Amino acid sequence: QGSSSGKRKKPNLLVTGTPGTGKTTMSTALAEATHLRHINIGDLVKEKKLHDGWDDELHCFILNEELVCDELEDVMEEGGNIVDYHGCDFFPERWFDSVVVLQTDNTVLYDRLSKRGYNESKLSNNVECEIFQVLLEEAKESYPEDIVVALKSDTIEDISRNVATLTDWVRNWHPTSSQ
Ligand code: ADP
Ligand code: MN
Repeated sequence: QGSSSGKRKKPNLLVTGTPGTGKTTMSTALAEATHLRHINIGDLVKEKKLHDGWDDELHCFILNEELVCDELEDVMEEGGNIVDYHGCDFFPERWFDSVVVLQTDNTVLYDRLSKRGYNESKLSNNVECEIFQVLLEEAKESYPEDIVVALKSDTIEDISRNVATLTDWVRNWHPTSSQ
């Protein structure tokens, strides 16, 4: 059927969004509900040293896109993954059957990130990133529009609803229904 999902029997989802929108919280709950594998790219990069050192200004590892993609190729081909990362333009398009962009109200996000101890510049950068819907635009530019879905993540109820919606989607997914 010309499906980009190839031979995988379970779908791959990408969960993206500005830091603090709830990617890791939602992905963890979704992985529990669906028995898919949760891959937190930030953790993976640290564990497997898939980076080019530490960025002193941004206080994060400088992710090496090629190393990350090489590391994940086999497991993504197999299917059944929830990939959790605040970026999405460097993964191969063919990897994903659904791209979920979490979105959070600016003031709610500001509070979450200040609780996380972000400094003023990091706070305003991330809140601005959310206001301008940077991740949603990036997702729409990098993947077919019909697989990109934006979901609100302001409250605990939002998490439950999003997990329920996506669990249904995963259960109803078939290799040929992806295109
Ligand atoms: P991300 O992985 O996108 O950076 P996290 O999942 O680590 O975000 O969530 C950041 C913080 O916000 C955590 O303390 C989490 O409990 C809280 N949180 C995330 N999503 C929600 C939500 N929808 N409602 C309430 N709190 C949330
Ligand atoms: Mn996270």
